[in-house]
Amino acid sequence: MAAPLKVLFVASECAPFAKTGGLADVVGALPIALRRSGVDVRIVMPLYAGMPWSEFEVLDGSLVVPMYWGQASARVRVGQLPRSDVPIYCLEYNRYFDRPYLYGPPSQGYSDNLERFTFLSRGALEICKALGFIPDVVHCNDWQTALVPVYLNTFEWAQPLHGTASIYSIHNLAYQGVLESGALFITGLGREHYNPGEFEHFGALNLTKAALYHSTLLSTVSPTYAREIQTGAYGCGLDGVLASRSRDLRGILNGIDVDEWNPSTDPFIPAQYDARHMAGKAKCKAALQKEAGLPVRDDVPIFGLVGRLTTQKGVDVLAHAMERILRWDVQLVLLGTGDPDAEEFFKRAEHERGERFRAWIGFDNGRAHRIEAGGDFFLMPSRFEPCGLNQMYSLRYGTLPVVRATGGLVDTVANYDEATGGGTGFIFNDLRADSLADTIGWATSTWYDRPDHIEAMRKRAMAQDFSWDRAAREYEGLYLDAYARRRGHAHGAQTSAA
Ligand code: ADP
Repeated sequence: MAAPLKVLFVASECAPFAKTGGLADVVGALPIALRRSGVDVRIVMPLYAGMPWSEFEVLDGSLVVPMYWGQASARVRVGQLPRSDVPIYCLEYNRYFDRPYLYGPPSQGYSDNLERFTFLSRGALEICKALGFIPDVVHCNDWQTALVPVYLNTFEWAQPLHGTASIYSIHNLAYQGVLESGALFITGLGREHYNPGEFEHFGALNLTKAALYHSTLLSTVSPTYAREIQTGAYGCGLDGVLASRSRDLRGILNGIDVDEWNPSTDPFIPAQYDARHMAGKAKCKAALQKEAGLPVRDDVPIFGLVGRLTTQKGVDVLAHAMERILRWDVQLVLLGTGDPDAEEFFKRAEHERGERFRAWIGFDNGRAHRIEAGGDFFLMPSRFEPCGLNQMYSLRYGTLPVVRATGGLVDTVANYDEATGGGTGFIFNDLRADSLADTIGWATSTWYDRPDHIEAMRKRAMAQDFSWDRAAREYEGLYLDAYARRRGHAHGAQTSAA
């Protein structure tokens, strides 16, 4: 039998060890699903402060990583992703990673981030050579790993890794790794790479642009976002580059952790339930109202929102719609952290409208679960949304999403059809406060007037399959295509996508 496909994941975060967003969830889950279908997948990431380093085994010897200033000598620790045998190699280099934040304090990056992630990118390839693990494909994720495909085509070209294909996955195009042009020397690459095809972009150094040029194939986290980022409205300046590689760019919808987000086993919620036994959901609603200090009533719909309070998530639009929404007999609970202005606004609104609105400023996973379980509806008025996880959690919990038609929200939520009762949520197009309020009004009136439709939508929503196994099958296909592209012949592995 042919050897299994070998894949190395390189990432700057991985749940549950280090997380700032959805990227960590992907890196913590997709490799497990790939492993189940026979792919030899391993992960490389930094060892950050706060990770359970003592549970990881130290590998013998030290890893030498070439840097522009000389040779960095790092320790490598190996552990496993929880509930799996997926190896995770952590680069221990305290000068770069023993810090309070992954990337820097809120809304600031560390000034040496290019150096830190150059180290990660080169270090990942050095680990492969040191272990004798020569991957068929290196799967890179966002700008922190954008140099890997470049190194495969330059420093590693005549080395053991020359046949290794690269996949570059865009989790959020808003973060591209943009630096002033003089910083190129930190990557160790020669000045000849500073040209408009590779790193140069409007007079600055752009790491993502170079990755888009050098990677064998590209992916992003939903089919709609894959299309959107090729347009001026969503391409963040790289739409032209992405459009030029349109045929090599695939949108693969993220899965969710269906064990963590399962209303029939969830330990964070006061009563478990499933599509056939919904009594628990009513208890969760009452408990959520109580927790929020709102009137405990089953005859009023409750809307939830959990997420970063940033313009990406459209919370500014919600802020403008609040006055109209809270005139109706509805309840609204919000959990999030983010822009200080937004936090302040929602706290003030709570002060003024405490009988209908509760704002929790903070990060609280258990409470996020209770909002998903206790809500009737879940709001995501996103300006853009590469994939989005919360709408999938909501669907699984029978909490109907109210979303703007963008990115992964389009690919996961089906709009309510008044004629047939079809759909799984409520969708609006224009990012305006009135459109959001109208749509919340539409969901509210449906809740009051057509409870049979709401019940049918809930059941349909809860039956959707968002498991990682589906996504893993698509990634396997992508890896095999990348392999064939790089080597000029197909891989012989007996994987399910072969
Ligand atoms: P993004 O990655 O853009 O922030 P996603 O919807 O893809 O958005 O993923 C966000 C994840 O972080 C979800 O798992 C969500 O529940 C969680 N999350 C965000 N903010 C909070 C918060 N304040 N408390 C608890 N969980 C949160």
